[in-house]
Amino acid sequence: MRRPLDRLPKAHLHLHFTGSMRHSTLIELAREQGVHLPDALVQDWPPQLHATDERGWFRFQRLYDIARSVLRRPADVYRLVREAAEDEAREGSRWLEIQVDPSGYASRFGGLTETLELALDAARLASAATGVGVAVIVAANRTRHPLDARTLARLAAQYADKGVVGFGLSNDERRGRARDFDAAFRIAKRAGLLAVPHGGELLGAASVAECVDDLGADRVGHGVRAAESPRLMERLADRQITCEVCPLSNVGLGVARGPEDVPLRRLFEAGVPIALGADDPLLFGARLLPQYELARDVYGFSDAELAELARQSIRSSTAPEPVRKEIIADIDAWLATPLAG
Ligand SMILES: [Zn+2]
Repeated sequence: MRRPLDRLPKAHLHLHFTGSMRHSTLIELAREQGVHLPDALVQDWPPQLHATDERGWFRFQRLYDIARSVLRRPADVYRLVREAAEDEAREGSRWLEIQVDPSGYASRFGGLTETLELALDAARLASAATGVGVAVIVAANRTRHPLDARTLARLAAQYADKGVVGFGLSNDERRGRARDFDAAFRIAKRAGLLAVPHGGELLGAASVAECVDDLGADRVGHGVRAAESPRLMERLADRQITCEVCPLSNVGLGVARGPEDVPLRRLFEAGVPIALGADDPLLFGARLLPQYELARDVYGFSDAELAELARQSIRSSTAPEPVRKEIIADIDAWLATPLAG
């Protein structure tokens, strides 16, 4: 007998805006707007990707761009965020931090500021409608110029007490060193935002260390390859820097050969705080709950360990203290529930 994981309260800290779209919504919006979708996004969905080489990563980005192209009207943005929050609620998630790079939408919605305001308003409404706390992380793109990242960091800083809680850095880690973006992260941190760059997904432990040393990362997006260095894991554990581990993204992108190759257990046992995430369910075919199911079924996490994973996700979040307290109490209550039978 096992406790139901969809009733385990948790936080979701690694979910991208476009990648959070329901597959059914993508199909519907594409049909409505006459956008032709490639087979990989229709009958062959979810696509097989091999992003460990540049061509594979390029294909992943191209599919992403096609998905982004169906979000044309403000109503589409409201729908996407509301549905994402509904799906979170269904999986027991109580707090969502969604990452958006406003530059991908700025031309459609009248500019960077307008796009961010739209996303923030959608987050507010989704939160009110579902009871899931929805906060926004502004993410810069690593393949673009560091000056673009600074512009986004300044924008994010202006909204630091209006729903933006963090500043990220995404896209291909092999292009663009973390340290080139240090000025942007300084701006974000000075405004009180969490630094949450991606690292240690496509490159090894040194890339994670760079995120920590040069960008002051409070959490690292993925960070799984920190497991290659016991010393680095020790540092992450000592400083309580969280790895946002997204196992089914690693498998979907071919970063890991199979789920058993994702070193979740190793990171957990080294004391590195973990927040499981889905990254881009639209492209990997799995939302948050299957990541927890994997922890149980593949990595052998007991219910007590699963509850600890959930607590770590809450502690690593920006949820306000009373919300954290309440959710942690509910996690304890979940674990205290006697098993039937
Ligand atoms: Zn990501």
